Amino acid sequence: MELPAYRPPSEAYSLLVRATRNCPWNKCAFCAMYRGKQFSLRTVEEVKEDIITARQLWERVKKVSLSLGLEGRVNHLVRSRVIQESGTDIASFPWLYRENLTAFIADSNSLAMPAKDLAEVVRFLRATFPEVIRVTSYARAKTLLRRTPEELKTLRETGLDRLHVGLETGDDQLLALIRKGATASEMAAAGRKAKEAGFEFSMYVILGLGGKQLWQQHAIGTAEVLNAVDPHFIRLRTLMIQPGTLLEELQAKGEFHPSTPVEIFQEEKLLLERLEVTSHFVSDHISNYLALDGKLPDDKEALLSNLNAVLEQLILYPQAATNLLQPEHLRTL
Ligand code: SF4
Repeated sequence: MELPAYRPPSEAYSLLVRATRNCPWNKCAFCAMYRGKQFSLRTVEEVKEDIITARQLWERVKKVSLSLGLEGRVNHLVRSRVIQESGTDIASFPWLYRENLTAFIADSNSLAMPAKDLAEVVRFLRATFPEVIRVTSYARAKTLLRRTPEELKTLRETGLDRLHVGLETGDDQLLALIRKGATASEMAAAGRKAKEAGFEFSMYVILGLGGKQLWQQHAIGTAEVLNAVDPHFIRLRTLMIQPGTLLEELQAKGEFHPSTPVEIFQEEKLLLERLEVTSHFVSDHISNYLALDGKLPDDKEALLSNLNAVLEQLILYPQAATNLLQPEHLRTL
């Protein structure tokens, strides 16, 4: 069974189905995830074999659970028995422990598959795992725009429920700088198209991406795109400059100046203030300094007051802000 190296944090307990390998774009200035790796499609047959293998594992684990009187639940006793009987350690398959099973189709842009092949994969997944309550995937805005409304509608009808798209920023200057390969209006159009086809839509934003120079226009442009789309989820992560990326080079040349934690909180505040959406606003990534989770617009005031409280503390105690830059902080979040 071939497994992907990455999935969104919200899919940590999902059954992972690798339908493509790596990223067909692979140029974003901040991203090192698939550096040096070639994009390739997997055949529908290969993907189906993985789904069958996953089902066989599921059946074996459930059988062991029932034999132990656990009514299908999975715990350490089941794990030990499965290891004894088959040598397979199911600890690395967290989806087996979950009652409400969800699935994620990887890698970075499953919509790059021919639409009929992806629809076949989703159909087969749904038929093989009728227990699955949600199927999601990453997609690039540009690829989404290339799919016809009919193709998207078919994908939705076969049971692909949610698309995760990296907006990163809604500012055109910054989108060009980070080589995202899409403009703000294309990002907005892709989001609206996905929603019109009936998908739940999740957009990712990178706090700190504009650095000291562009943080304000980053926040303002991003809010504009998000307002135009009104995605179901807005998910935040904070920039961590990765070795080997263009952004690292720009920083080394003195052309990119990372924001401080205080500046990042100010940026997040400006973004939130400008939002006029009905989205879930979530910072659920290990890179974020503060975990936030609220439904807009109802929770906007509470979220802002949370941010203000942290900002006040950081301004009063600058040492605390310095500590936020230490990797240890990130590791323990
Ligand atoms: S599209 Fe996504 S995975 Fe591909 S390079 Fe950009 S951020 Fe990385």
